[in-house]
Amino acid sequence: MRHVIALDVGGTGMKAALVGADGALLHRARRATGRERGPGAVVDAILDFAADLREHGVERFGEPAEAAGVAVPGIVDEANGVAVYAANLGWRDVPLRARLAERLGTPVALGHDVRTGGLAEGRIGAGRGADRFLFVALGTGIAGAIGVDGRVEAGAHGFAGEIGHVVVRPGGTPCPCGQHGCLERYASAAAVGEAWATASGDPDADAAHCAKAVAADDPDAVRVWHRAVDALADGLVTAVTLLDPRTLVIGGGLAEAGETLFTPLREAVRRRVTFQRLPEIVPAALGDSAGCLGAGLLAWDLLNSTDRMEVTP
Ligand SMILES: [Zn+2]
Repeated sequence: MRHVIALDVGGTGMKAALVGADGALLHRARRATGRERGPGAVVDAILDFAADLREHGVERFGEPAEAAGVAVPGIVDEANGVAVYAANLGWRDVPLRARLAERLGTPVALGHDVRTGGLAEGRIGAGRGADRFLFVALGTGIAGAIGVDGRVEAGAHGFAGEIGHVVVRPGGTPCPCGQHGCLERYASAAAVGEAWATASGDPDADAAHCAKAVAADDPDAVRVWHRAVDALADGLVTAVTLLDPRTLVIGGGLAEAGETLFTPLREAVRRRVTFQRLPEIVPAALGDSAGCLGAGLLAWDLLNSTDRMEVTP
């Protein structure tokens, strides 16, 4: 049976799958990155995992995977297949696509984790059918993916979609990126957690605790929450003004608050727009499988584009 390898590399763990031509998940597996052993060991762990998945495919389906898609965090040069930098894995300028292609003997597509997850949300998840969408992940930081006609825009240098570093509060809270007042300093799950830990006096409180307190009408929690929602709406309206998306797909830890987030967020965005057309604002549908599913899509896209090239005279 025809299949591809899909691999989503996170900070601590890797999620993998063998994916059929119809998108069916034929096999799933997880493994640690082993980042405590250093960046070289992480690269070896990725190569070994991919090779084992190839073997599994041969044993189970009688033929090897035809391609592989791999999503990695940090800065990714998708055009050249290079994992440029990842703070949580410690690597710099790893030619991961070439290393994997050599090990597997198949074509490989390398993608950025959030853009790859966004590709899956846009094509087979919450944005399914939308010709223009913006996927925004509210996690430890905030990152985005700009979907255009079934693909995700990487930008000229691989930085497109970095909505977390749009300045929404000029002169505001310093950000590790060097700017002040970036959206992710106000509306990431980490920022909301920190603000609620301070406001509630509980150092272990996080964004999920804050959402619960908001649902119970705690006035301090409501104040913290609305500060985040207002900043998020400011950032999203900037994106809407520039991109005119049909659908905004919001994922990541903070989106798990459900309507506690989405009801005030839709209202805050609606209040701000004037001439802009209001996009549909929907929660992400694929959860933490989005990156792996997107990696599978990258691999199939690669094969389909190769097939097309072969029939072109
Ligand atoms: Zn920043």
